[in-house]
Amino acid sequence: MNTPQPKTDLKNLTQEQLVGFVESLGQPAFRGRQLLAWIYKPGITDFAQMTDLAKEFRAILAETATMSRFDDAQVECSRDGAVKFAFRLEDGQLIESVLIPEEDRTTLCVSSQVGCAMGCDFCLTGTMGFIRNLTTAEIINQVCAVRDWALAHDRAPLTNLVFMGMGEPLANLAHLLDAIAILTEQRGLDFSNRRITVSTCGLVPQMQQLGDLTDVNLAVSLHAANDAVRGRLMPINKRYPLAQLIEACRTYRQKRRKRIMFEYTLLEGINDSDADAGQLADLLRGVPCKINLLAVNPAGNPAYKSPGQDRILRFQRILRDRGYTVFIRQSRGEDIAAACGQLAGKGWEETVAGKDGEVDGRADGCSEVSPLSP
Ligand code: SF4
Repeated sequence: MNTPQPKTDLKNLTQEQLVGFVESLGQPAFRGRQLLAWIYKPGITDFAQMTDLAKEFRAILAETATMSRFDDAQVECSRDGAVKFAFRLEDGQLIESVLIPEEDRTTLCVSSQVGCAMGCDFCLTGTMGFIRNLTTAEIINQVCAVRDWALAHDRAPLTNLVFMGMGEPLANLAHLLDAIAILTEQRGLDFSNRRITVSTCGLVPQMQQLGDLTDVNLAVSLHAANDAVRGRLMPINKRYPLAQLIEACRTYRQKRRKRIMFEYTLLEGINDSDADAGQLADLLRGVPCKINLLAVNPAGNPAYKSPGQDRILRFQRILRDRGYTVFIRQSRGEDIAAACGQLAGKGWEETVAGKDGEVDGRADGCSEVSPLSP
């Protein structure tokens, strides 16, 4: 007896792969491009809706393929406007994405893994350990789901994507690259490369591959200006020490002609002194960059405390006096555990387990479990 072949999830496929897929079904290449445009149109959930494809082809697709999607999510809205989405995956794992509306843009912070193997000492996701990589479809479906939620609830459309959610994106490089191809494809989700930022804790070889294969922005989590402190905070520094990391940033920048964004979380008494600021200025000399300073969120590890505002401003001043562009980033969504370093996929279990998946569809879309579109 023949066991039926599992259906292909088309959300896992780039345009090129989709063309290969339709050709394997005896169809011409242009059908693959047509199909891609249908898959990413809002509201398309069924092959029957793809009215310019032949009926027979639609029937074959229904037999051989699926288009996965997240139907609902736990949606929590912060007082400061950030919105956190918790999505349940097919195997029961939870991932989170955070929407951050600002005056001139609306950014979605996207997850790339369940948990994270990198073990940064101040990060709650790191304490989960590594569970698994997300598939391309699971990365893409976060974007599609939040796009549809924003449309259905009269919110500003997504303009920017940052891979700064759960996980180290460059540790899931193959799926990340396919996801970027779909996100930037005009017939796909049509984001400009300029509006996509991938953040890494410093996986040097993968940074080089990302630079060779895409044109997206790079953010590097630095958090210390010398190997002794960085090695204590971020185990990855033992594999790729600062000299190697900064050299890789220079190369990335030379290829892309874009400024690198360095993220620096300030931890009281650990990396926030005047000397640390001076050392950071020396380290980044000659690297065209912007620096984001962020006070630590103690939810990740209560051993770390945030410096006072005066100290943060002084740290910024020292760097600015040395000619750097330095922003102080305000953490968003702290009241709903959506801020940097707070994502750990726990919200759904805590608030929904006793409620049997009850749907509470508030008009503003901020519900315990909310359908993503009507
Ligand atoms: S900061 Fe990023 S790389 Fe480090 S443990 Fe957390 S999720 Fe992983």
